Amino acid sequence: MINKIDHIAIAVRDVEKAAEFYERILGLKLGGTEVVEGMEVKVGFIPIGETRIELVQPLNPESGLAKFIEKKGEGIHHICYEVDNIHKALETYKARGAKLIDETPRKGAHESLVGFIHPKSSGGVLMELTQPTES
Ligand code: ZN
Repeated sequence: MINKIDHIAIAVRDVEKAAEFYERILGLKLGGTEVVEGMEVKVGFIPIGETRIELVQPLNPESGLAKFIEKKGEGIHHICYEVDNIHKALETYKARGAKLIDETPRKGAHESLVGFIHPKSSGGVLMELTQPTES
């Protein structure tokens, strides 16, 4: 059901500023940025082989992401797995006992569909599922 790690997300205060480290030190280029209105975030993706680093910046100071940074500072925020059918994946993982943040998928970056699994049921790690395009 899971194809690969789609991305590892890093919570940052400023996408462009954070991207400087990846470019200057690691020699990795930011592949562009996007504002995801529904989630009140700005994201920037850095492609690495078959996966990506997602720099995710809160646009709403009241959001969970902003509070995450306030409390823990910038750092790893979630791991995202790519699935073929997100509706089926969410339903299956719920039936197996996962605590879902999203019972139904919502819109993510690049017209994808995404859904989150609560870290309480996944060993303290916020997990995102993504289906690249609606099929
Ligand atoms: Zn993500």
